[in-house]
Amino acid sequence: MKPGNNAKSSVLIIYTGGTIGMVQRPESGTLTPVKFDQILNEVPELNKFNYHIQTITFSPALDSSNMTPSVWVKIAQTIKKNYNDFDGFVILHGTDTMAYTASALSFMFENLDKPIILTGSQLPIGTIRTDGKENLITSVEIAAAKENGKSKVPEVCIYFDFNLYRGNRTVKRDSEQFSAFHSVNYPALAVAGVDIRYSNEFIYKPENKGILKVNTKFDDNVVILKMFPGISEKVFSSITNIQGLKGIVLETFGSGNVPTSPWLINCIKKAIKKGIIILNITQCEGGRVIMGQYETSLELLNAGVVSGKDMTTEAAITKLMFLLGQGLNNHEIKFYLNKSLRGEISD
Ligand code: ASP
Repeated sequence: MKPGNNAKSSVLIIYTGGTIGMVQRPESGTLTPVKFDQILNEVPELNKFNYHIQTITFSPALDSSNMTPSVWVKIAQTIKKNYNDFDGFVILHGTDTMAYTASALSFMFENLDKPIILTGSQLPIGTIRTDGKENLITSVEIAAAKENGKSKVPEVCIYFDFNLYRGNRTVKRDSEQFSAFHSVNYPALAVAGVDIRYSNEFIYKPENKGILKVNTKFDDNVVILKMFPGISEKVFSSITNIQGLKGIVLETFGSGNVPTSPWLINCIKKAIKKGIIILNITQCEGGRVIMGQYETSLELLNAGVVSGKDMTTEAAITKLMFLLGQGLNNHEIKFYLNKSLRGEISD
C-alpha cells in the first residue's frame, strides 16, 4: 500500500518470526516460521484502514526461543532507521520470549515518542480460529493512534487478547490460552472492546523529550538463579563461582526471602565482594521484594543485595544485561537497578 494524499497515519510492521507466521511441516508435524511478506494478503482487513502500511520480514524468521540480544539490536536498528517515516511500529514476534524482547527494547530506546507494539498469536494466521488477526489489526490501530498530533501510547507495549500492557511489566502466563500474557503489578494501558479504551493515567509520558537515542550494548555475563527448598551449597556456589560472571538475578521466595543457612549468606557475600551484582526478585507473580521484612531477607540486605522490588524476571535480567553493557561502575548500576528507567519498577 502506498501513502495516499489523505493517509492519516503510517505504520511499519516488522515480522521477526513466531507462530503468527508459521506453517505446519507435513513431514514432522512441527510448526516452523515461514516468510511473511504477504501479510496484507493474509489480513485484507488492514487495507480498510486509511493508513500507509509497510512490512519488513526478518531473515531468518525465528521461533522466539532462538531470540538473542543481537536480534534485539537488529529490531531496534530497523526502527531507528525508519523512525521518521512512520507514526508507529508493530513487531510480530513469537510469544515465548516476547516479554524479554519488549523489556530489552524498552531499555534501549531513550526519548521514545512513538508506539512500539509487540504482538503475535497462539494459532498461525492462516488457520481458521487464529487469534493472530485481531491481535495484529488492533496493534496496528494502536500504533497509529494519535491525540492532538501526538502518539497516544509512546512506549514499548505488548498487545494480546484485547489488552495492551506495558512491555516491561508483562509476563507470558499460558502456553495454550489466547490470553497468553498478563501484567500483575501494573494495570493494562488499554482494553479493546467495542472501542479501544485507553487508561491515559497509566501511560508513560516523560516530560523532557530529547532526540531519540538507541543504546545497543548488552552484557551476557549474567544468570537467573531460582531458589528452591533443598538447593545445595555445591550447586549454588558453582554458579556464583562462574568465571567472568557479573550479575545474578536471584529469584527468591515471597517478599525476597532465602534460607538463613550460613553457607548461603557466605556465598552471597563472597560473590558481592568479587564485584558480582545480585538483584533480588520474587518468584511470586505479584507483590514485591521487601528486604528486611523477615529475618530470612535481612542478611541479604546487609550483604549488599539490590532489591528488584516489583520487577518481572524478564525486566530484571534484561535491565541487568543492559546496565552492565553501558560501561557504568557497580555503584551506578546498583543505583539504576533500583530506579525506574522506563516504568518497569514501582518506586
Ligand atoms: N514457539 C513460538 C515462538 O515463541 C510460540 C509462539 O509464537 O507463540 O516463536
